[in-house]
Amino acid sequence: MNNQQDFDCLGIGLGPFNLSIAALIEESKTQLRTRFLERKPSFSWHPGLLLSDAKMQTSFLKDLVSAVDPTSPYSFLNYLVKQRKFYPFCASGQSVISRLEFSDYLAWTAHQLPNTQFDCNIQHVDYVDDQFIVHSETECYTSKDLIIGTGMQPHIPECIHDLISDQCFHASELALRAPDLTGKRIAIIGGGQTGADIFQHTFDQQFGKPEHIEWISRRPNIEQLDEGCFTDQYFMPDYVNQFYHLDQKNKHREVSHQKLASDGVTSDCLNGLYQRLYHDKYVLRNPKWWSIKPHQSLISSQYRNGEYQLDIQHGLTQQVATIKADVVILCTGFTHDLPACLEHLKPLMITDQHNRLVLSSDYCLQWKGMQNNRIYIVNSGTHNHGIAEPQLSLAAWRAAKIVNSLSQKTIYELAEEQNILDWGLDIEPQHSFASASSM
Ligand SMILES: Cc1cc2nc3c(=O)[nH]c(=O)nc-3n(C[C@H](O)[C@H](O)[C@H](O)COP(=O)(O)OP(=O)(O)OC[C@H]3O[C@@H](n4cnc5c(N)ncnc54)[C@H](O)[C@@H]3O)c2cc1C
Repeated sequence: MNNQQDFDCLGIGLGPFNLSIAALIEESKTQLRTRFLERKPSFSWHPGLLLSDAKMQTSFLKDLVSAVDPTSPYSFLNYLVKQRKFYPFCASGQSVISRLEFSDYLAWTAHQLPNTQFDCNIQHVDYVDDQFIVHSETECYTSKDLIIGTGMQPHIPECIHDLISDQCFHASELALRAPDLTGKRIAIIGGGQTGADIFQHTFDQQFGKPEHIEWISRRPNIEQLDEGCFTDQYFMPDYVNQFYHLDQKNKHREVSHQKLASDGVTSDCLNGLYQRLYHDKYVLRNPKWWSIKPHQSLISSQYRNGEYQLDIQHGLTQQVATIKADVVILCTGFTHDLPACLEHLKPLMITDQHNRLVLSSDYCLQWKGMQNNRIYIVNSGTHNHGIAEPQLSLAAWRAAKIVNSLSQKTIYELAEEQNILDWGLDIEPQHSFASASSM
């Protein structure tokens, strides 16, 4: 250890969610000594899925700061101006921007903030004498409070776990691996946005021309993201505030109903895909080199005779078929596991009957030391704050809530206006600045 540094609050992980908090703290001019620690050498946003033509699911107005501080220098609009592309951007008429451009905006912000640090992989955190001791490989920091923003982990289904290799991997690694798919049989497992993006880029031969592409989805069809204006009401502060106070049974029911509000494929992506398929099949009349199979679940897998053999079961007929592939790309989602660096604190955490973390309305973890030291967690699952939690839509609002709570005063006015619908649920008292006493 070559260094010890003391902070009021340390952030662990620097994806968009902690970045939003870092940007708001910096602009708020609080006296809080903060730093946000990121293990990567420089900012990147899901680099393995930063495919050339992949688009955002959310408006660029839902950036790191604008919803709560539109005059912040860290807004997307300021990025456009500073990068000298405001007018060309306006002329492009885009309502949905590419992930590449949003990622560039995030990196532009991350690297100008004074409270960020890269190349800092946090290995473990101890709690001693009312403070956190945060260890990276080379440094040691102490802090009164923590904000955990380490994101989600790739989910690999049990039935293919043992076959993970250079030719069978999670989609989150695709662009980093940049595999040569020329002449190969490709199986894409998973029918959400990532599955659609990967199918499209494979179809477009971004990684070479495959011999055949098979896209398998458990869902009954290739399902569109519900982007309706009433659906959007779920991604507004007053819904989240009211959702928070529901009991677990009702929360579960609500989130289950809302699956396609967050997990479908954008209409923009689906339309583009459908038109490509139509052109390939009915205009060019190419021999069949792709197939899309909804209602099919991967149930077991083997690697035999130099190929992957994947058993898939039909959701309606229960019939099992085997498909063969040279490369398997798993678009099977992400899980919300507690990061390994918090293992030492785990016994101190209070969990619900499903062993999940319990958070206050302002994102404070309920744990044994919370009277004196707070641990905020963003993106920890939908069971506390609902469907907006893993999405960018309310990232700035949540960040402002956390900054207010951290500084124990209203730095950011949160205009939590009623939305169009009257949800009829109890609204939490405003500005509770929850610590242990307001849980
Ligand atoms: C491909 C993709 C596209 C998406 N597009 C959209 C979209 O258009 N709209 C939308 O609303 N949502 C979108 N989402 C969902 C969500 O907005 C993103 O997943 C978002 O990146 C979540 O941010 P995060 O800060 O929680 O985590 P992440 O972005 O995953 O960042 C976590 C960071 O923590 C770092 N870290 C982890 N452990 C440690 C450690 N021990 N020490 C130091 N650093 C650590 C990681 O290196 C990483 O940089 C998308 C998700 C994916 C996967």
